[in-house]
Amino acid sequence: MSSSTLPDTFLLSIDGQGVAGLDEFDVIDPATEELVARCPAADASMLTAAVASASRAFPAWRSTPWSERSAALKALGQLLQTHRETLVTLLVREQGKPRAAAEWEIDGSAAWFAGIAEQALEDEERPMLPGVKSILRHMPVGVVAAIVPWNFPILLAVWKIAPALLTGNTMVLKPSPYTPLTTLHFGLLAQSVLPPGVLNVLALPDSLAPRLTEHPDVGMIAFTGSTETGKKIMRSASASIKRVTLELGGNDPAIVLPDADVEAAAPALFWAAFQNSAQFCVASKRLYVHESIYDRFCEALVAYARTVQVGSGLDPAAGLGPIQNRVQFNKVRDLIDDSRRAGHRFLLGGEVQDGPGYFVPVTLIDNPPDHARCVVEEAFGPVLPILKYRDIDEVIARANASHYGLASSVWGRDEQAAADVGRRLEAGVVWINCIHQMSPAIPMGGVKQSGFGVENGPEGLAHYCNLQTIVQKAG
Ligand code: NAD
Repeated sequence: MSSSTLPDTFLLSIDGQGVAGLDEFDVIDPATEELVARCPAADASMLTAAVASASRAFPAWRSTPWSERSAALKALGQLLQTHRETLVTLLVREQGKPRAAAEWEIDGSAAWFAGIAEQALEDEERPMLPGVKSILRHMPVGVVAAIVPWNFPILLAVWKIAPALLTGNTMVLKPSPYTPLTTLHFGLLAQSVLPPGVLNVLALPDSLAPRLTEHPDVGMIAFTGSTETGKKIMRSASASIKRVTLELGGNDPAIVLPDADVEAAAPALFWAAFQNSAQFCVASKRLYVHESIYDRFCEALVAYARTVQVGSGLDPAAGLGPIQNRVQFNKVRDLIDDSRRAGHRFLLGGEVQDGPGYFVPVTLIDNPPDHARCVVEEAFGPVLPILKYRDIDEVIARANASHYGLASSVWGRDEQAAADVGRRLEAGVVWINCIHQMSPAIPMGGVKQSGFGVENGPEGLAHYCNLQTIVQKAG
């Protein structure tokens, strides 16, 4: 197969081999509701085989020099580049996002492998009592179960594969059943670079997923997904006291201060909210705009939103694709219906047509009450409440009045004043006059029910390790 044609079959990766499932399920194109491909499904015995393979591979991989593991990561990044065309096309077909966004995801994933490959966790010597020295070192945990959602299937998988493998762990990776194909294809390619068992990739129905998280030979679960599933993961991890990182849902506020540059902030905040059709954990999901500029801001936002087309990811004119799956489409439609029933005013959108395709128009809601579902719930779809505020203490209290605490942003010409507001927000990440700036070197993670643990940076690497303290009599 050349790197630009789509594969005709998909295989699981277990113990270095491509394996057909005993069963299969449909992967649906969200733009047409047509079949993209049949995906092999692992059964319980394949899951057991994958964990056993990862356990067998662990001692040798842990002992492989860091420099060789780093080189393997770079080779995995190269594979993404070599097979870019196939992976981009697959991602557009199964996830629905526009081609440019799929290219960004594949290229970003390659860059992530390269960036994480440069990182290290050095031993640290700390002074202790006279005549005694202590050394802090990081030991890989063992077998990591990595579980990934459907919004950025490859990027979020790479955010786990790269740090886990670099630090000497082995992995069983489970993509979402809605978007398994790009990941399965990449998993199979990765076997040419990695020793058998270091990276196993399984498509599993959700009903079997708890078997993975409960498996006694899994030492850690690295999870990205909803808060609801995160709670289940935590419960199942308790059976054998597994390490857990949880990157969960968010309801990120963006605060537009009275001195903000409205003309610049409106388009920036449009993409802050609607990138990836708002199926983005760190999308701006509540816009708080000062009353003195509220009308002007709404006008600018609506004018900009009218210039962006919603359509199939294969249509070059489309800036935004469909919602990824029927369940999420119904949830978003229900949220819009709730607003209509509550009498909220729509500045734009609000009419959802029946298929084919899970398309939802950009929907802007004019100053709904704070208790409205569209304000309180994570929409994870293109429905955005714009909320008016009068003073800073009030808006900070409203922004913080959420059980989520993933990210947030503040927009204003006085940078110091904006940063001061940012420091009072209960969120793992705060962007000032910018949004969604991320780097393999900078940790990201949520607070409150948006999860715990971070990804990226040395702090992210450390999450894949147990800390060992060696206390040694000196001389
Ligand atoms: P989800 O929780 O439904 O599914 C996530 C993954 O968990 C999927 O692979 C799914 O198959 C698996 N899963 C489902 N039930 C499971 C179980 N009982 N045990 C083990 N695994 C199980 O989430 P989703 O709908 O795929 O993704 C959307 C959510 O993800 C949103 O809430 C979004 O905010 C969140 N998200 C968070 C981040 C972050 O970094 N914080 C990033 C992206 C998405």
